Amino acid sequence: MADQVNTLPFFYGNITREEAEGYLKQAGTGNGMYLLRQSRNYLGGFALSVLHSGRCYHYTIEREPSETYAIAGGKSHRSPVDVIDYHSQETDGLVCLLKKPCNRPKNMQPKVGPFEDLKEKLIREYVKQTWNLQGAALEQAIISQRPQLEKLIATTAHERMPWFHGTIAREESEPRLQNGSRTNGKFLIRQRDLNGSYALCLLHEGQVMHYRIDRDRTGKLSIPDGKKFDTLWQLVEHYSYKPDGLLRVLTEPCPRPDGETGLIGRPLLPRDHPGLTSALQNAAGGILSRLKTVPIPGRKKSQGPRHNTTDNLNPYETRVPNNQAGGKEAMPMDTEVYESPYADPDELRSSTVDRSQLFLEDGELGSGNFGTVMRGIYKMRKTEKSVAVKILKNDDNNPSVREEMLREANVMQQLDNPYIVRMIGICEAENLMLVMELAELGPLNKFLQKHKQTTIKNITELVHQVSMGMKYLEEHNFVHRDLAARNVLLVTQHYAKISDFGLSKAVAEEQNYYKAKGHGKWPVKWYAPECINYFKFSSKSDVWSFGVLMWEAYSYGQKPYKGMKGNDVMQMIESGMRMDAPMNCPQEIYEMMRTCWTYKADERPGFTIVEPRLRDYYYDIAQ
Ligand code: AMP
Repeated sequence: MADQVNTLPFFYGNITREEAEGYLKQAGTGNGMYLLRQSRNYLGGFALSVLHSGRCYHYTIEREPSETYAIAGGKSHRSPVDVIDYHSQETDGLVCLLKKPCNRPKNMQPKVGPFEDLKEKLIREYVKQTWNLQGAALEQAIISQRPQLEKLIATTAHERMPWFHGTIAREESEPRLQNGSRTNGKFLIRQRDLNGSYALCLLHEGQVMHYRIDRDRTGKLSIPDGKKFDTLWQLVEHYSYKPDGLLRVLTEPCPRPDGETGLIGRPLLPRDHPGLTSALQNAAGGILSRLKTVPIPGRKKSQGPRHNTTDNLNPYETRVPNNQAGGKEAMPMDTEVYESPYADPDELRSSTVDRSQLFLEDGELGSGNFGTVMRGIYKMRKTEKSVAVKILKNDDNNPSVREEMLREANVMQQLDNPYIVRMIGICEAENLMLVMELAELGPLNKFLQKHKQTTIKNITELVHQVSMGMKYLEEHNFVHRDLAARNVLLVTQHYAKISDFGLSKAVAEEQNYYKAKGHGKWPVKWYAPECINYFKFSSKSDVWSFGVLMWEAYSYGQKPYKGMKGNDVMQMIESGMRMDAPMNCPQEIYEMMRTCWTYKADERPGFTIVEPRLRDYYYDIAQ
């Protein structure tokens, strides 16, 4: 949404109410002249400023939990622009109809709030420190979890501010403010309890004033009868430019005593972390640049044993199980299988698994062409890993099945991406076994059939992750040839991995397609026309399959082309017809499916186009 709004000529970004009034009054006296700006107190919200009879009126457009927008108490709309369109026809509580947009002066870009700039650096630093990631794994984590990370950073950023002193008593806060410079407006915030109650302590004419900051039932923070805010840093930003009921504006943040962090109950980590210090020092203008920041490391390190370096060791944290993180939604990076098993060469030295270190557990995870897939534990030098073990049927005298399994292993061995099931190794023992990362929630189609309450946002998050894995395959010149919801396995409800590389092929860079020698046992309903007509497989034909996979996901695991035979499906496609949109499927998503089903491979987008389109849509609905 933010991206769409940014391009509107009457959107001014993070300007104050007074600045908005200045622009409107400069533009003329026309009743109903309006502009849109970013809300400075509600995350993801906007403010509408309207001129009427020489006065300016301001309305907050809140972002509602249902991802709709509304002026408080008013009708809900899909976007802030729809709110404006509606109020250009109906006053419905507004002072007048919205008549004319007040466009930004030439060459002026929407103003970026100080936090926006800082946010990027904080997110990067947070991911780096929390999960000890770098390079491609770091980038992929940020891309796939940006909405969650932004929210996390926004609501915890105060912990990194020097004015946040944690849970100190009122008596303790006073000498801190009285020490050193005694500038009027010097301030700090302390935490009063663990229920989200804080106090703003402000120096005024040599005396310390204490204002309670309470959190209401909806989670908003305010001083009694004051404006409400989503975050403490927004509150500080607001009272730094106007007193609005306080005795004076906030001027100078009172720094914490040397070496103390604002974090509560968390261990102190090495001081002067170079990355964070410089990130913050480089931060943008506005209040944050006036603040001297104290380096505080990440909140949490999912303590993979191979990271037990003293630098990152956090004794308060334990490993997060695969499907939960302390009641909060686990991010992919919280699980055992985000980071590459090959990251530590001391652990996985070869692709051969030692049978004596592999322990199979009771109970099948599933079964396929080759035989069964069992759950197991693989004991390595320093750690042990939960794994899935594909076991070749013993009674199979057919050597080609063995070769097929070895071919699958060979492909998997060359791939290393968080959104692809990685191979741990091959084990030749009583049976031939392929040892893989475990994705214990199983196939996406089955999961969605059982969990019909899964939100569109959650489905989009997973489907986007699949597109990230496919983009990686495309970049590395592999074609999957069996991309379908049954072959996407879930590690958690928020983490998907592509699996089943039984039909996959490496393709030559120049030719970029694989020509099959003949028609095999093919998943025809997932295949593009050129696969069936010319046996030609490329990343573009994987894109077609991805469209079918999207259809399966948004229809909660239904079978595509239900009740139809392969031949009928082919005829349907040749005649230009395509599947209808699944029930309640967002229009934008259905349009993406339709683009994936572009008849001619040359005109079909690749994953380099599909992934960012899906990403934009996901960010829009998730932020
Ligand atoms: P496949 O032979 O690859 O089609 O696998 C058959 C079934 O085994 C899948 O549908 C899953 O239910 C299960 N399975 C395969 N690989 C894994 C894995 N890495 N983690 C968990 N379950 C798996």
